Amino acid sequence: MSDEQQHAPAAETRAFEADVARLLHLMVHSVYSDKDVFLRELISNAADACEKLRHRALVDPTAYGDDSALKVVVETDATAGRLVVSDNGVGMSRDELVENLGTIARSGTRAFLEATASTGDGSGLIGQFGVGFYSAFMVAKEVVVESRAAGAEEAWTWRSDGTGAFTVEPAGDDAPARGTRVTLVLADDAKEFAEEARIERIIKHYSAHVPIPVFVKAKDAAAEKEVVDGTALWVKPKSEISQEEYKEFYSFVSGHWDQPALTIHYRAEGRQEYSVLLFVPETRPFDLFEPERRGKIRLYVRRVFITDDAELLPSWLRFVRGVIDSQDLPLNLSREMLQNNPLLASIRKAVTNRILSELEKLAENDAEAYAKVWEAFGAVLKEGIYEDGERRDALYKLTRFHTTADTTGWRTLSDYVADMRENQTAIFYAIGDDAEKVAASPQLEGYRARGIEVLLLTDPVDSFWVQAAVGFEGKPFQSVTQGKADLEAIPLLDEAGEKEEPARAGDLATLTALFKQHLGERVSDVRPSERLASSAACLVAPDLGPDRQFERLMARQAEGRGRIPPVLELNPRNRLVRALAEKASAGGAADQLNEAADLLLASAEILDGEAPSDPAAFNARLLAMMEQAFAAGGPSEG
Ligand code: ADP
Ligand code: MG
Repeated sequence: MSDEQQHAPAAETRAFEADVARLLHLMVHSVYSDKDVFLRELISNAADACEKLRHRALVDPTAYGDDSALKVVVETDATAGRLVVSDNGVGMSRDELVENLGTIARSGTRAFLEATASTGDGSGLIGQFGVGFYSAFMVAKEVVVESRAAGAEEAWTWRSDGTGAFTVEPAGDDAPARGTRVTLVLADDAKEFAEEARIERIIKHYSAHVPIPVFVKAKDAAAEKEVVDGTALWVKPKSEISQEEYKEFYSFVSGHWDQPALTIHYRAEGRQEYSVLLFVPETRPFDLFEPERRGKIRLYVRRVFITDDAELLPSWLRFVRGVIDSQDLPLNLSREMLQNNPLLASIRKAVTNRILSELEKLAENDAEAYAKVWEAFGAVLKEGIYEDGERRDALYKLTRFHTTADTTGWRTLSDYVADMRENQTAIFYAIGDDAEKVAASPQLEGYRARGIEVLLLTDPVDSFWVQAAVGFEGKPFQSVTQGKADLEAIPLLDEAGEKEEPARAGDLATLTALFKQHLGERVSDVRPSERLASSAACLVAPDLGPDRQFERLMARQAEGRGRIPPVLELNPRNRLVRALAEKASAGGAADQLNEAADLLLASAEILDGEAPSDPAAFNARLLAMMEQAFAAGGPSEG
């Protein structure tokens, strides 16, 4: 008796981890439109377990036994209202049952909860977020998982009704010899899922490309029936694969339920042999901007699944999904080898080049489809410009920009260069959070007045790549908010005209000197501007050092980091500036001019989207000026 207790502890009840409990609550009370997806998730887990076993058995047959006849069986029992999904894969130990199915929240759990809170319908998202197992509770009032890890003596049963807790206990005698049996006791409104015909249809629809054969069997039927043959789609010739099959396979490998924007399927022969079936999704995966920047390409070796954790592509292609299957790699690839293997490195290089050339082809043949890809993943591709110098030119060809010439459409760098003004030597850009706001900033006035196109960069990554970018076709990239504008050589457009007389150079010099003295450390310099056409003043970054927007970004990240004082530029053709210059050169009115310097600096800060450095003083000055104009003016009207 005591002996038995030691070997077989009694049933233990454990609470679900908090996020898992919330997720289960959602599933149990699910209002999800498409409940069918639970089966896809259970079959995908079963197939994963079989693929893992196949791999381990090849590497170490004595420990893991026979890998022949790996399969998934789905058994229906309409009378009892049950559905059973079994596999003879790796199985789970007691600890694995506890961890995988309850106490450790999977990385996607929180993200899934957030995503469904906003969209309301999670059925299309379940697979993508790695929370598939729990979808069983959409249709089951109780779920029982019996599992024996490959090579293990004992088997264990996990059981839950999905309301806060689960139990684990030693399994009975009829536990699987190896692998996992998931039994769903169907809820009253989900009995339809115990009907064989219905189940067969769902499997054909959602799981047609699982790489392990799937069988269906009704409880009392004599034999099971093969519904999915488990052949790998990627080894079939292209001509035998329909668009529908590609799309189904895409859903299987990515967990996305949209259409792939681009399908790349080929076989490389020669020094190395491998098959590639990759997809560019149409929409962003939820974890696209997580700091790990991990890809999810599945690596196979001679059709044996190895890992989806190897960095088979550079991280700036992490949105690509699919399979690479090598003929030449050894099966027992260790983590070490995955990182340093020269064969893998050459596959990585070749496949990366291929993806870039396919994207280029798509851009040439179907600009609209490519624009969608760019909108979803352009921000990620741009990371490659500064991370991968070798591919910079190829990536430049793929970039698209909103510009002052086209704030909503997409322009290429070649378009830009072809339309450059006479004497224009640089590619100008402005950085901000929003294209329209950036386009409206005063720093752009002088460019617009000369018909110079300016790239409007609004992705956070833009601040980084433009610094690394050495230029395109010999034209350097230059920020419109940094350094001298050097625009004299480019004539103003006729319609911009020279409406206002500029201030006299001597007057202006006196004014800038006065301002500079008064503003002191708050500015690096005060100087006349060419980049303004109508506004009085704007701020730019000094010639050396970071662009203003980039500096702001860095300051936001490192609090307390000192800012580099900006250059205050004044527009000589602005009436106010001219009047101030005249006043300055006439001498006197020092207090008033100092006030004007403070106010102009503050208003330029505001135009840059910043708060004035001393809001209270700014406010007091502004109100004082208004008072002068409206209240102190003596007998104006009455
Ligand atoms: P995911 O499959 O994305 O990891 P799931 O919620 O579907 O997320 O499954 C959770 C984990 O439970 C799996 O990663 C796996 O470790 C384990 N698991 C689920 N079903 C099985 C099974 N049939 N055989 C072995 N392990 C399984
Ligand atoms: Mg799963």
